Amino acid sequence: MSDVPLSEAPPPWTCARCGEPLTLGEIEVAYLGSAFPVKLWHCKRCRLVLIPEELAQGRMLEVEKMLEDK
Ligand SMILES: [Zn+2]
Repeated sequence: MSDVPLSEAPPPWTCARCGEPLTLGEIEVAYLGSAFPVKLWHCKRCRLVLIPEELAQGRMLEVEKMLEDK
């Protein structure tokens, strides 16, 4: 049987700090003195933000390029 109720499906991520299920949404990430809206998993309770390694290494480089273009 595979009809598991959605409410019982575990969230893909939980907060490493307080254990709260993380929420996917746009948050503002401060970088080099500017804030950018980025869709990330974050904790509503303690505001911990999950930044995947690929994002930290890739997206931030893109942001850096955006800044240099201006
Ligand atoms: Zn938390």
